[in-house]
Amino acid sequence: MTVQFAVRTQLPIVPNAWLRVTVHDTVAHLRLCADRVSRGSIDHTHTAAVFQPVARRERFVGGRWVAVTPPSYVGVLRITREHGGATLAHEVTHAALEVYRRHIDPTAALGEEVTDEAEEVVAYLVGDLFGGIASRLLDLGIWGR
Ligand SMILES: [Zn+2]
Repeated sequence: MTVQFAVRTQLPIVPNAWLRVTVHDTVAHLRLCADRVSRGSIDHTHTAAVFQPVARRERFVGGRWVAVTPPSYVGVLRITREHGGATLAHEVTHAALEVYRRHIDPTAALGEEVTDEAEEVVAYLVGDLFGGIASRLLDLGIWGR
């Protein structure tokens, strides 16, 4: 059964940004849902996990642009039940950078989209390091209670 929940930032610098986390039973279902959200604009044939930022929509009202998309919502993070800490950390990195771009600096140097190559490298490094640390903490019995 697919599980969904929301997570909100708690930090004073961005106290109320939130994303939806969806834990899919299978990669096939994850890809199907990711395709529905991206409406075919992104090929998810090889996607195993993904963070999908919500489209930023604005409307011109009374002589100025007004956000249509709730500014606090940043997108949906999709994983499956098989994914461990490294994959989750990778996707959380994309989510964190999206929060940073929306709430702190829209010109953040790592890129303007989650598909940017520099952001992808950083996300892989965070996932790799976190995965290594989490494995050791689990082996040592410090985590997993
Ligand atoms: Zn990535």
